[in-house]
Amino acid sequence: MQPHTTPHDEAGSFYAKHKKVYPREVHGIFATFRTLGVLILLGSYYFVPWLSWEGHQAVLFDLPARKFYIFGLIFWPQDFFYLAALLIIAAFALFFFTALAGRLWCGYACPQTVWTEAFLWIERKVEGDRNKQIKLDNAPLSRVKFSRKFLKHFLWISFSLWTGFTFVGFFTPILDLAKEIYTLNLGSWETFWVLFYGFATYGNAGWMREQVCIYMCPYARFQSAMFDKDTLVISYDKTRGDPRGSRKKSADPRAMALGDCVDCTLCVQVCPTGIDIRDGLQYQCIGCAACIDVCNEVMAKMDYPRSLIKYTTQHAIDGFQTNLLRPRVIIYAILLTIISGSLIYSISTRLPLKLDILRDRNTLYRVTPEGKIENSYTLKMINMDKIPHHYTLSVAGVTGINIIMRSTDILINAGDSLVLPVQLAVDPANLPGLSQKISFTLTATDNPKLSLTQTGAFVGPRTH
Ligand code: SF4
Ligand code: SF4
Repeated sequence: MQPHTTPHDEAGSFYAKHKKVYPREVHGIFATFRTLGVLILLGSYYFVPWLSWEGHQAVLFDLPARKFYIFGLIFWPQDFFYLAALLIIAAFALFFFTALAGRLWCGYACPQTVWTEAFLWIERKVEGDRNKQIKLDNAPLSRVKFSRKFLKHFLWISFSLWTGFTFVGFFTPILDLAKEIYTLNLGSWETFWVLFYGFATYGNAGWMREQVCIYMCPYARFQSAMFDKDTLVISYDKTRGDPRGSRKKSADPRAMALGDCVDCTLCVQVCPTGIDIRDGLQYQCIGCAACIDVCNEVMAKMDYPRSLIKYTTQHAIDGFQTNLLRPRVIIYAILLTIISGSLIYSISTRLPLKLDILRDRNTLYRVTPEGKIENSYTLKMINMDKIPHHYTLSVAGVTGINIIMRSTDILINAGDSLVLPVQLAVDPANLPGLSQKISFTLTATDNPKLSLTQTGAFVGPRTH
């Protein structure tokens, strides 16, 4: 990869002067994929919090109650390993797709790309195409310029605040949140996060855009470590395109000693990071393929073959066979399949019941007036099901063990937990040793399959 230098580097300065990038609108197959990505991803983001599922918000990360609702499944802090598995899957998916197809994530699915696309769309609707935007920026302040800029920023800020509101709506029931805003009763934390997330969206997608990818994103820096010579990259075919030069459509480029590049610079004009792909692979390239689309249009107009700029690999450029199924790709794919399969299996067979047993640590045991040995426990039970259940508790491990508790019928509501103090009493004659392994079994009375057993210890006095 080549270091990024621009004609705007100033002698004596460590920094390149920032030049605003005005990406030209582009049409084509990859632009369609990107638009579809934007519609699906942003559509899901703004729509999902409004969905209702079995009486509550379909996706809600209820932090105060420490419950995560995801389409009928309820996750508790005890389910943390699912989140860990999900993060591992995301990491392997990123490794896999990057090794296979380069910066697919950056070009089509990264929130920075997706929101920037939406902001660019608003900008074009208000200020016009690239040339009109440049003209407007260079024009002196006038009523028209002020009103266009004001409208653009008003729309950007409104969209950003809606984004912040939606973000908070994943953590606070969105209908309550809307009511709180409507009645001007929004809490201080919610206000902070709506404004913070809204401000971050406005700043990143409206103002900073490509600078986030070039200077701030860590992935842009280390993704080259995942590349090899068989990774798909976007590349300009120098052998075919050079020497570059303008010519008439009817002209014979070979007679003029020219390659196929007509030097129209459209590939630079559509680039959201403002680079020239003809200078070779650069880390600023986010792999959006806008230059492929526009160059294909130019090639079609000139009646030249397409794909002067194309998805290819370093091996293909060097004249070797591309090998897509490399060991690292196969290993990532296998790991991804195993971990994803295990996660799906684990969630689909998950028992919606949790039982934790805590022995009273202050007193080892107590001798009752009847001469029995008594141990105290605290049982924490969680009903993670969508319906309430009545449960019974049984204990095994010592002959003649008695359970002493408030009620033998344990009712736990859907998605609720219960802390229950329990005492166990045993005739010392039945205690074979100092500490005896016992097991608690909690069983739903309406569904015997909904049964969970946990082990604990029963402690008694020394018998000899
Ligand atoms: S769009 Fe294609 S023809 Fe035009 S300058 Fe870029 S590479 Fe050359
Ligand atoms: S060089 Fe091409 S693929 Fe890379 S960011 Fe620019 S337009 Fe997108």
